[in-house]
Amino acid sequence: MKNINHYCKIVATIGLLDGREDLIEKLYLAGATVFRMNLSHSSVADNAKKIKIIRSIEKKYNCSLGVIFDLQGPKLRVGIFKDGEVLLKEGQTFQLDLDATPGDNTRVNLPHKEIYEAVEKDHILLFNDGLIRVRVESVSKDKIITTVLNGGPLSNHKGVNVPDAHLAISALTERDIENIKEANELDVDWFALSFVQKPEDVLLARSLIKSKAGIISKIEKPLAFEHIDKIVEYSDVVMVARGDLGVEVSPEKVPVMQRKIIVSCRRAGKPVIVATQMLESMINNPAPTRAEASDVATAVYEGVDAVMLSGETASGKYPVEAVSTMRRIINNVEADDKHMLRPESDKKDTDVSYAITAAAGITAELIDTADVIVNFTNSGMTTFRTAQNRPCLPILSLTPHIEVARKMAVVWGVQAYQINKDLEKFEDIEQEVRENVQKLGLAKKGSKVVVTAGIPFGETGDTNLLYVITL
Ligand code: PGA
Ligand code: MN
Repeated sequence: MKNINHYCKIVATIGLLDGREDLIEKLYLAGATVFRMNLSHSSVADNAKKIKIIRSIEKKYNCSLGVIFDLQGPKLRVGIFKDGEVLLKEGQTFQLDLDATPGDNTRVNLPHKEIYEAVEKDHILLFNDGLIRVRVESVSKDKIITTVLNGGPLSNHKGVNVPDAHLAISALTERDIENIKEANELDVDWFALSFVQKPEDVLLARSLIKSKAGIISKIEKPLAFEHIDKIVEYSDVVMVARGDLGVEVSPEKVPVMQRKIIVSCRRAGKPVIVATQMLESMINNPAPTRAEASDVATAVYEGVDAVMLSGETASGKYPVEAVSTMRRIINNVEADDKHMLRPESDKKDTDVSYAITAAAGITAELIDTADVIVNFTNSGMTTFRTAQNRPCLPILSLTPHIEVARKMAVVWGVQAYQINKDLEKFEDIEQEVRENVQKLGLAKKGSKVVVTAGIPFGETGDTNLLYVITL
């Protein structure tokens, strides 16, 4: 296992491997611990082989890695055009309708009847990643008449964003439900839900997932932002999906929303990922722009659990360089002492587990010679809480459950490891700690290790022990 050398984690999106079977291992060695597969552009079967590779890397390096299946969700698209593409001009009238006949520069099919029920006069619709903007003039049950505000080329199946309306659409399409079912057989750690609109969307997804996979809610709709605290509460992890969010609310609003979403997640102790265009120019260039380096750094200063690469690693020319660049930016911020924002926790929680994990962080920071915090955890909850306080030293999470260890791959500052032995007596704690910490090279001889555990062993949610061991 590689020693932790950065607290903020890196998520890398894996596209077509195209004969580059060693790419995932290279991305891991460069610093990525979570791998995302985008089901908008691939099938479950396409990804089965990638998961096999990831699990074999885990064995080879004795580490725990995370796998995200990112569901397409209700991505709205226009139909097709007679000539494949049209040019829309500012000021012209353009009609959207339920007629499947190929379109022209006066109309096109928009095959989602929910949109006709939800939009109103003066709402804005966006096409083609927000490049084209139109204003609704009138709506009937099968027709929307608009005026083009910003023109441009529009081609077959381009995406449509409807930021002003609350669509009566589930965050899970039939395709998503099918993907979840198929993926039950594979070792997937999280499903990412695209275009979540309301907290209930998360609950619905939860009821459909029969495996131990968790849920990552992607915040990319203004409505989701309005319900952010509840969505955070219901989700396992949250992603600031800045691509679609930037289209729906306009780019200048994204930084403030990013910051608020991060604060909401950190208060709740839920891991948060910042995604999209972080090192966009590295799709074509071996080095990032200064602004991109600053963008990654800002997320790290804000205390996110992970930063994500999309096209940079999925289809770019410099995937490994993108990960190592990201890691170097993270390293530089983390070397800046007391760099991280620590939002006031509004936690009124008085339970024992919470008090012990908070005390572990404080104890470890007060002891100069402490090198690492070790959590024994069944559900992973203790480690989420330890990491929530951002203790500024590595956390080693020891758990009997591999799927819990894998979920730690996205959590700030945590290295997780499956222990195969059941703890039986108090002395076993010390023995396990010495063995694992030494094996992993996480602490020097003579240094201190701050340990949390729950006695009796084997029960969930009962962390009640804080124990300092000298190596
Ligand atoms: P996507 O999500 O890449 O699946 O669209 C991320 C985003 O919208 O930022
Ligand atoms: Mn998106």
